[in-house]
Amino acid sequence: MLDKQLLTTSGLIAFLAIGIVTAEARQAAADYNSAAVEGTIEIRPDLYFVYGGGANAVVRVTPEGLILVDTKNPNPEISAALLREIRAISDLPVRYVFNTHHHPDHIGNNQTFVDQGATVVGLEALTNLWASDGRTQDIPGQPTVTFERDYSLSFGGATVEAHFYAPGHTGGDTIVHFPDLRFVMLSDTVGYARPTPGINGTNAAGILTLYDGILNLEFDAALAGRGPVMTRAEIEAQRSKWETLLGRVREAIDAGATRDDLMSRTRQGDLGWTFNEGFYGQLYDVLQAD
Ligand SMILES: [Zn+2]
Repeated sequence: MLDKQLLTTSGLIAFLAIGIVTAEARQAAADYNSAAVEGTIEIRPDLYFVYGGGANAVVRVTPEGLILVDTKNPNPEISAALLREIRAISDLPVRYVFNTHHHPDHIGNNQTFVDQGATVVGLEALTNLWASDGRTQDIPGQPTVTFERDYSLSFGGATVEAHFYAPGHTGGDTIVHFPDLRFVMLSDTVGYARPTPGINGTNAAGILTLYDGILNLEFDAALAGRGPVMTRAEIEAQRSKWETLLGRVREAIDAGATRDDLMSRTRQGDLGWTFNEGFYGQLYDVLQAD
């Protein structure tokens, strides 16, 4: 009897382990940079992300409808494929769209959901950048509900909170937090697919403000614009790398580094980052102006 119980227990553990490995293996094998929509991965019950065809798009399911974060590259096939993936998750309509920043691979198919009755919510700065950027100004589906820094939505028993902390990847980065699911969408403020973060030197000077804002939130799962689900520890590690790099830059400047030799006097290879001279020049200018 005891033996049988042990067998049953170990069998169950093996079964659960296979389930976990499969989900992880699927995320590890996924092509996040594919030009086409590739598939959907469940993050936790009622929370999914669709990858490929542009940036990761997050789908939150509520009994009253869906909340979508980011809508991939502007393209009819991508729009149709994104809709198919969403329909496979739920028959309910998308009621709200949030965008994490104005780049085309994040906002491209907003209009598809607007046409079906969704409301687009976005940061004022994001909306202004969208209207003034040649890459995006002709893309329809701009936010009609805008906010200056923070926005909170209660819908279908779910809560969504959107925050601007500091410029990072763009001047309009929005962190979208689902506190009830302990999940946060960080989008391109965190580099995953490309190890070197997509942050310019000007914005790098204030990046710890952004990270501190993020790490003040309650979460244990996070998602970058491309790539699999990340842990809180991985985001903490990113912050600590930034702190190290910025500390080295300040030390080099204190020791007499100039705009031209700041890059050669700042070690970054051990962090796995390859920021270029333009980045260091911008960072130098901002730090000198302080
Ligand atoms: Zn971007």
